[in-house]
Amino acid sequence: MVNDQAENLRKTARVLAAEIDRLITRPVRLMEVCGTHTVAIFKSGIRQLLPPQVELLSGPGCPVCVTANDYLDSAIAYSRSEDVIITTFGDMLRVPGSSSSLGARKAVGADIRIVYSPLESLDIAAANPAKKVIFLAVGFETTAPTAAATVLAAEQAGLDNFYVLSAHKLVPPALRALLTAGDVQVDGFLLPGHVSAIIGEEPYRFLAEEYHLPAVIAGFGPLDILQAVYMLAEQINAGKAVVENQYGRVVKQAGNPTARQILTKVYKECDATWRGLGVIADSGLTINDNYRRYDALANLPVEVEETREQPGCRCGEVLRGKIKPAECPLFGTVCVPEEPLGSCMVSVEGTCAAWYKYGAGRWQG
Ligand code: SF4
Repeated sequence: MVNDQAENLRKTARVLAAEIDRLITRPVRLMEVCGTHTVAIFKSGIRQLLPPQVELLSGPGCPVCVTANDYLDSAIAYSRSEDVIITTFGDMLRVPGSSSSLGARKAVGADIRIVYSPLESLDIAAANPAKKVIFLAVGFETTAPTAAATVLAAEQAGLDNFYVLSAHKLVPPALRALLTAGDVQVDGFLLPGHVSAIIGEEPYRFLAEEYHLPAVIAGFGPLDILQAVYMLAEQINAGKAVVENQYGRVVKQAGNPTARQILTKVYKECDATWRGLGVIADSGLTINDNYRRYDALANLPVEVEETREQPGCRCGEVLRGKIKPAECPLFGTVCVPEEPLGSCMVSVEGTCAAWYKYGAGRWQG
């Protein structure tokens, strides 16, 4: 029975791949924007299944990867204060900043605690009233509502020693910046399912209307992704450009208005620095004036070292889809997942890490 199901899935995948081959009659480059898609594509062997005229590029969709050095340097600087506890998701510990990392700081005794939800930071703040607890809020539209809800919960609990260091980022402005820069040829986008569950379809319309590019919001199973590529192929074949939703079982056209309400209650848009893309107008979220007392940078002055990039690291070009990881001379030699030199090799969703883990033997593919 299980074998029958697996065989049926394989059959469907082969039929979709054959249809994609029939529909796409010229070389095309499709960008998957989300790191979870990148990993799913590698894991399931979709690259090998697709016809050679379809090239998949990874975009700036891994939150850890796009977090710029100046943010890491600020977090590292805060970790040097005796009265500060840093709370963070585990991935951030291994990302190199200009001259150190949070992991290195933790190893020499800095109070840095890994949390699985930002809400855990409130328990830590309540248990340590003499300390200032700073949560490293990194992520896209998907995780930002939870961070906003944590600020509201801190207010409700009357905590005055909880702060957020925000590096939340917004996906649509980054896609616009990528296209405006014009240094990468893209023929269509696989759009991130999780982000779209919050923001809905509307914020992507400019891709079709201004750039005449097809775009499909995709789920994360192998058949979801193949079906989304098939939907892109149909559009490309017909010369159409619209935003479609393959992931309708999760993503509603209007997204999640309740989550967006919480977001706008606590945050406001701001210019943000993206690794590889530079400063993009209105592409980040910062705590708004009503909740300013929870904003670490606004309340806790800190001296930050001058930002420097890792010599030789080409994460910026990887994140723009300009080069493949294997084109970085440090890939797989100096830079490996156990000892990452750049952010794209840190997270499991990082493009370089995915290429390293799942692309062994096919790195030139
Ligand atoms: Fe940066 Fe390492 Fe990727 Fe090269 S292989 S781009 S150094 S993360």
